[in-house]
Amino acid sequence: MSYPLLEINLDIIKENVMEVNSLCSNYGIDITGVTKVFSAYPSIVQAYIDGGIKRLGDSRIENLKKLKDFDIEKWLIRVPSISQIKDVILYSDVSLNSELETIICLNNEAINQNKIHKIILMVDLGDLREGFIYNEKFQLVVNEISKLSNILLYGVGTNLTCFSFILPSKEKMEILKNIASELPLKNPVISGGNSATLKLMLDGEIPSSINSMRLGESLLFGKERCTYSFLSSTRADAFILNAEIVELKEKPSLPWGEIGVDSYGNLPKKVVDKGPIYRAILAIGKQDCDIETMIPLDPNVEILGASSDYLIVHIKNNCENYHLGGIIKFQLGYFSLMRAIMSEYVIKKYIS
Ligand SMILES: *Cc1c(COP(=O)(O)O)cnc(C)c1O
Repeated sequence: MSYPLLEINLDIIKENVMEVNSLCSNYGIDITGVTKVFSAYPSIVQAYIDGGIKRLGDSRIENLKKLKDFDIEKWLIRVPSISQIKDVILYSDVSLNSELETIICLNNEAINQNKIHKIILMVDLGDLREGFIYNEKFQLVVNEISKLSNILLYGVGTNLTCFSFILPSKEKMEILKNIASELPLKNPVISGGNSATLKLMLDGEIPSSINSMRLGESLLFGKERCTYSFLSSTRADAFILNAEIVELKEKPSLPWGEIGVDSYGNLPKKVVDKGPIYRAILAIGKQDCDIETMIPLDPNVEILGASSDYLIVHIKNNCENYHLGGIIKFQLGYFSLMRAIMSEYVIKKYIS
């Protein structure tokens, strides 16, 4: 066996999806299963589908391309780049949009490819990321869209808690619902947000006409993103990273010599002197994971820090459990998973 190794438990993912899906269906919400965190690996996408997902979403058209053989509605959940319009029409059925000019390009390409492309208009409700500000101009845009032969207005959506970390609220969901009711549509998709909107839903604070959410983190880790709490009956250990020990020594806890700055120009954080401690150096680094979103499975292990190629831990007790060439396991969260997936140095293995 070679390391670093990422173990992916498809059963846990499927069970999480079933759990979150049944929660959402109680509130009339259909999930678009977001696949960007795991680069749309088809086996994980299949676990989504086995768990009941009927729509897929990804921010990268390159990922949706990998899913072309899945006969299921696909959403591009990042506003399309004009340079990629051809692939957007080829590989997605729906895209989230915030620029009329881009929508016109989508229409022209859809005519070329003899396709109908659906769009969801994004409304910025305060997070100041993508979306139209709702005003008279928005009405004009809706008007213009109705003249486009190969574009079908599918609904509206919003995204919160991703840039300015503005939380979803009952008021904001009411605003979205009211905007949707102004559209010339009978049953618009009203996409109320990402995993940060789940808490509002569970608190019964979402108007019943909100009928869609785009979820990634909550399906994979059972975690809602408003208070970062875990949903009951879900598991957070679907992704376990195994890293190999390449140095294991008792060394001082305090560095010695004159202290310089790190690669960002910042002073390193102060280290507490605990005397000599057992330190293990692992053959994995910032290229492959993110130490702020991973936790060692063994409570005796504490992460001290990392550089590009090394991760350094303190083994607090039971050092006899560890040896050179041995493995330390970590449960991964969002950004760590994203890096491990993208790192070509990390071997991936499915377990179930
Ligand atoms: C990433 C993303 C999501 C999914 O977010 P999670 O927090 O993983 O649920 C939803 N919508 C948009 C527009 C996104 O970019």
